[in-house]
Amino acid sequence: MSGQTPALAERMQHIGMSPTMKGTIAAEKMRREGVDVVDLGAGEPDFPTPAHITAAAHKALDANFTKYTANMGTLELREAIGFRYREDYGVSYAPDEVIAAAGGKQALYHTAMTLFNPGDEVITHAPGWPTLLEQIKLAGATPVVVRTTAAQGFALTADLLLSAVTPRTRAIIVNSPGNPTGALITEAEARKLAAEAAKLDIWIIVDLCYEQLVYDNVPHNLPKIFGDAMRDRLVLCGSASKGYAMTGWRCGWVLAPKAVVSGCNALQSHESSNVNSITQKAAVAALTGSQDCVAEMRQIYIQRRDQVIEWLREEPRLVTPVPQGAFYLFPSCEAFLTPGTPTSQAFADGLLAKEHVVVTPAEAFEATGAFRLSYATSLERLREGVTRIIRYARALS
Ligand code: PMP
Repeated sequence: MSGQTPALAERMQHIGMSPTMKGTIAAEKMRREGVDVVDLGAGEPDFPTPAHITAAAHKALDANFTKYTANMGTLELREAIGFRYREDYGVSYAPDEVIAAAGGKQALYHTAMTLFNPGDEVITHAPGWPTLLEQIKLAGATPVVVRTTAAQGFALTADLLLSAVTPRTRAIIVNSPGNPTGALITEAEARKLAAEAAKLDIWIIVDLCYEQLVYDNVPHNLPKIFGDAMRDRLVLCGSASKGYAMTGWRCGWVLAPKAVVSGCNALQSHESSNVNSITQKAAVAALTGSQDCVAEMRQIYIQRRDQVIEWLREEPRLVTPVPQGAFYLFPSCEAFLTPGTPTSQAFADGLLAKEHVVVTPAEAFEATGAFRLSYATSLERLREGVTRIIRYARALS
């Protein structure tokens, strides 16, 4: 025994734990010590999974639906996914153009591993969800990040994304509604991007994780817009996690040309095999059952969004763009940064230490000077959280 830590694989030097989890872990420790923590860090719905979905799972368990299924998911589930996209967007995907994966995260990862080569550049946008960048790197490709700005409400434009295209560009990944900003790409910009991308030999990958959470009746038919222009170079990645309050069940999917789905299927067959069989039955109920539960949750999220923005305006220096999707706000804390609290990471750390509020600093999303606040929690906790944030920020300035 040398006493030295054995070396890990080289790739582990470039990857760490997802930074969005750090605040949650620190908060858990405080909570165990009896501290009243307001957790606005969570990236998941506070609602229980709707009853008709859990009932389908109970039924599956009672029927002993507990064996391996087809690696890519049951035909029933793949048809249910196809059905949902046909109903919601008017696009048509056959069962062999659909694979179910263990969450949107795995769907995106398998897409990255199936499509990207070392040396490829893959364009995505920041502030953005860190896993997208890590997955590009794990596939050996190079992430190219374009920046949206608070001044423009984090609007993602075709020109911005296209400005980063080079001969080495393999794909553009669009996340809309976006994490952490809640911003959408407009249909007009998506149309422009699709038209240009179709002329180039590049893929568009759309991360639709928050697709059911679009507010203010904004039209947002990305599957149709991109599909009409470039279906043979389009990958749609979706998830049951956010819209159906099913984060723990682990079900996402890829809709793509057959060759991409076959690639994902091959990877998955050597990695995790099929999505949990009970989860698959639950997901079928979610996708084919009444969508009223989604509409009800969406309604509550809108009320919370509007209410929290109003409360944040009690301190106008916490400038907060109004997002049209997801369940996050991304207020600026720029005005409160001082030599003692120079970054949003320091701001968030101090907020947790002094006022026991968890938010996720912009640094977790390849950005600076802001923090992500999740409104997937009760209005009562949100009011308490905003009161503490304002008190903390004012004490800094
Ligand atoms: N995309 C984005 C932008 C996300 O924020 C998340 C979850 N935080 C996912 C994909 C994946 O979620 P899941 O694996 O639970 O479907």
